[in-house]
Amino acid sequence: TSVLEIKDLHVSVETEQGSKPILKGVDLTVRQGETHAIMGPNGSGKSTLAYAIAGHPRYEVTGGSILLDGEEVLEMEVDERAQAGLFLAMQYPVEIPGVTNANFLRTAKTAIDGEAPAIRTWMKEVKGAMENLRMDASFAERNVNEGFSGGEKKRNEILQLELLKPKFAVLDETDSGLDVDALKIVSEGVNRARETTGLGLLLITHYTRILRYIKPDFVHVFVNGRVAEQGGPELADRLEEEGYDRFLSDAA
Ligand code: ADP
Ligand code: MG
Ligand code: MG
Repeated sequence: TSVLEIKDLHVSVETEQGSKPILKGVDLTVRQGETHAIMGPNGSGKSTLAYAIAGHPRYEVTGGSILLDGEEVLEMEVDERAQAGLFLAMQYPVEIPGVTNANFLRTAKTAIDGEAPAIRTWMKEVKGAMENLRMDASFAERNVNEGFSGGEKKRNEILQLELLKPKFAVLDETDSGLDVDALKIVSEGVNRARETTGLGLLLITHYTRILRYIKPDFVHVFVNGRVAEQGGPELADRLEEEGYDRFLSDAA
């Protein structure tokens, strides 16, 4: 099975005031088939971790490494990372004017596989995945995320996840802003991906609510750019009761 190893990762973000260190030595190992919840207060660096894995140009890795089956991800371009089997569902999915969802998905699939999918099976797959996510067929012909509601954007991210079949996915607050019905639908999609492809998952969330639907194997608490504590699913239950205050005062 594949393994994603994050070792002593240091990341700075470019700001108007210069380079600001955010991640200060993160260690994390995810095997395919495992789900790791990354929890933590706002501003603790969760999205920074997601962007560093995906290769966002604004986030500069100043130390450490990210290895996918021993290969240095940090040396790969963004598209090479996707081809290697990494996927990011962004906290704030971007709109792509002028590109329909159907074209976007087919282009992404073609780029990742190195060949175009057979048209009839692909169309069936897209249709089935959209039905599973209770997305109206009209979303295939609309421009990517353009004018989508917050919940529709999150479903669209999971549609990509189900169709592109990565080895490892980072879901950045896919749960935030979803009502209970949408949360269930999105969680079912993630669970299908876990079951059918043995996905390795980094589930970034501020709240414990989604963990009722997507059961984590491990929970890591981010505070101030570091993993302040880690444990099994029971750690999420403790956070539910105690919140992040204890970790924040420890860090201060
Ligand atoms: P989280 O996802 O846990 O809420 P982030 O990774 O988004 O945290 O942010 C961590 C810290 O980095 C915050 O203090 C945030 O303000 C800062 N930060 C992140 N991105 C930028 C940016 N593009 N410009 C300035 N500061 C940033
Ligand atoms: Mg945040
Ligand atoms: Mg964030």
